[in-house]
Amino acid sequence: MNTRILSVLCVAILMASCNSTKTTQNDLAINIPIETAIDLVNINEDRAPVTINPGRFTTESVTYRLPRVVQGTYELNDFGKYVDDFKALDYEGNEMPVVKVDLNTWTIADAKKLDKITYLVNDTFDIEVEGGIGKDEPFSPSGVNIEPNNYVLNLHGFIGYFDSLKNSQYKLDIAAPADFVRSSALQTVGSSTSEDGKTITTSYFAPRYFDITDNPMMFGDLEVEEFQVGDIKIVLSVYSPNKVHSAASLKETIFKMMQAQKTYLGDINATPRYDIFLYLSDGKENSAKGFGALEHHTSTVVVFLESMSEESLAENMTHVVAHEFFHIVTPLSVHSEDIHYFDYNNPTFSKHLWMYEGVTEYFSVLFQVDQGLDDDTEFYKKIMEKIEYSKRYDDAMSFTIMSENVLKEPYKSQYINVYQKGALIGMCIDILMREGSNGQRGILSLMKELTNKYGKNKPFEDDKIIDEIVEMTYPSLGVFFSDHVVGDIPIDYNKFFEKVGLEIGEGRVETNYILMNGAPIVSGDPENGTIFFSEAVLENSFWADQGVKPNDVIKTVDGSEMTMANANTILGEMFNWNPGKEIEVKLDREGEEIVIKTTTTKTYTNGAGIMEKEDATDAQKTLREAWLKG
Ligand SMILES: [Zn+2]
Repeated sequence: MNTRILSVLCVAILMASCNSTKTTQNDLAINIPIETAIDLVNINEDRAPVTINPGRFTTESVTYRLPRVVQGTYELNDFGKYVDDFKALDYEGNEMPVVKVDLNTWTIADAKKLDKITYLVNDTFDIEVEGGIGKDEPFSPSGVNIEPNNYVLNLHGFIGYFDSLKNSQYKLDIAAPADFVRSSALQTVGSSTSEDGKTITTSYFAPRYFDITDNPMMFGDLEVEEFQVGDIKIVLSVYSPNKVHSAASLKETIFKMMQAQKTYLGDINATPRYDIFLYLSDGKENSAKGFGALEHHTSTVVVFLESMSEESLAENMTHVVAHEFFHIVTPLSVHSEDIHYFDYNNPTFSKHLWMYEGVTEYFSVLFQVDQGLDDDTEFYKKIMEKIEYSKRYDDAMSFTIMSENVLKEPYKSQYINVYQKGALIGMCIDILMREGSNGQRGILSLMKELTNKYGKNKPFEDDKIIDEIVEMTYPSLGVFFSDHVVGDIPIDYNKFFEKVGLEIGEGRVETNYILMNGAPIVSGDPENGTIFFSEAVLENSFWADQGVKPNDVIKTVDGSEMTMANANTILGEMFNWNPGKEIEVKLDREGEEIVIKTTTTKTYTNGAGIMEKEDATDAQKTLREAWLKG
């Protein structure tokens, strides 16, 4: 093969030298970085101007694309949809004909004349629908935000790639008002100030297109805190439009969490720097509506509601940032060829979402009990919630088939179950490994072994990895995978809990103020546009003690009027309430106003919970200890 490449190269060099009278060889697109620019000074109706200058082509035509799918999202986003005014310009500055092949692809004939491409990129936060994930709009942590004092720059939304130049280097210039704070996970290589001093252009460098997609940025009215956790430098950038939260107020939470996570992971992680970009949404029409985060190799973008209390933001940040950081193990390190050779336009999907999302999510719950951030009861509660939520999805669907076909129905709408059942699959593997090794090995040691075998630069073969894992571990894992991961038999969790002296029992269990046993205790009346408590409210000790009755309409919560439009936001806040919070809820009971002004207390209901068996043997207790405390 080497010789063939050589001879082709020789021909190319010969041809290039024939051409050398016209232009010099070193401006060829294949030889120089693609020069790109984003202009945040001259925003045009909520759209940012972008320029792509690739150098000179020698081919007849070129194809330029924005991603149809980006890594880590498992949905079609079609970033080309948000591009307006696409223009190709020749060296004389004339517009050239462009063929738009599909939503994300443009072809330009007579490519030898092509000087540069210009277009405008739209905001995606303001078109996002409630709920985010699973709707064909970019989930806000992977989206683009353009507003006067905040820019969320997921660069894959701005910058695309030429089919023929996928491995080219990129230079990126971003011009922005001089007073903007700039926070970037991408390497800065320089900056310049305009003559009037009002604009600063910062230059960045990306070794290849992958690095453009893997390094988000945030610009604007931000707060940035940098601190060291062991040998990792953490850079926390926070945008809170009404200054409700700050990087300083979140620093302690992140520090504590990252330190616990690093201790838990041990020698597995090597990144010297990790960036956390937190965008807090004020819940208005044009703000982000999809809450959660997206992982990158050395950073994450997180989106939450600004109205969350400090305590619940801290709790959610701990969970979500831990999840994203654990992605360093998988898929960022351990992953299949589908991910390694990712095609942004026409990707194939791996069968192993149980690992990439499931095991990652399980880690984010397990490490908290392992490191003492949670006690055993809190851990059991979180696992029980996952069991209950997972039952809302198809429990008899093969996880590998779902994963491989995640872009289409009926699989697409089951995707969210990777965070529920996927995590539980991780738990079952963990327990089986503890059982097989007298407590010595678990899911973390398995992932470490896989990291050593594969890793960032060496993908595994999608169809072989389960057999390899079984070979590396115990026959019981083989049965588990073929029945419950590849196969479609629902998992009987009690079989696994039995091994560690636990069981799912009925009793008085702690619950929350909105969801009980996985189901909401409120309902909506679209005709009257109201949200009211359902019959189930009688089973919720807090509301029942306050005298709330079924069909009581919720008028206001802490001064905010409840409407159909903001119901998800307000109910989301109530879901995040903790005991000890002062609340004021106004209800309408058949025309009579009822005011509940009190401090929340722990709330209970009758339901299923994970309980320690009284007759658990010492062997079971020892295995439980090994499982929960590593
Ligand atoms: Zn994830």
